[in-house]
Amino acid sequence: MIGKKMVDTINAQINAELFSAYLYMSMHSYFASNGMPGAANWVRVQALEEMTHAEKFCNYVHERGGKVVLTAIAAPETQWANPLAVFEAVLTHERKVTSLINNLMDVAIEQKDHAAGLFLQWFIGEQVEEEASVQNVIDQIKLAGESKGGMLMIDRELGARVFVPPVAAK
Ligand code: MG
Repeated sequence: MIGKKMVDTINAQINAELFSAYLYMSMHSYFASNGMPGAANWVRVQALEEMTHAEKFCNYVHERGGKVVLTAIAAPETQWANPLAVFEAVLTHERKVTSLINNLMDVAIEQKDHAAGLFLQWFIGEQVEEEASVQNVIDQIKLAGESKGGMLMIDRELGARVFVPPVAAK
């Protein structure tokens, strides 16, 4: 059986993961309507990944005999100045998620919930990847600078991203 504080914190995280998906769908809309289908694909894949994160947390709560409680999801931003600003917002958001995951691990340690600690390790590794992959996109966009050809190439590359459901997801 999972403790109340742990399950409450995970329920808050489920909301955060669903908000992430919502935010990335909003970014999808920005790119889709601004002539960047590749970037639209990239954030769409990101949104799908966030759904699997929420699902992993839900499954974990159920596995431990807890109750998932879904709450209202806040409205995401809908306007950005340019493509670089969108990816910078992704990085800012992912850094925030990293701090939430770290807080979850702090609760697991405080509650001496070793099973939760083990489960959360996957997310700690995942956040390292999340931050690194968006930083890579930001670096490329900065390199392209004012070059329209460079941006077209980047968009083509972002279009190649494919959604792969995580193997560990149940
Ligand atoms: Mg996530």
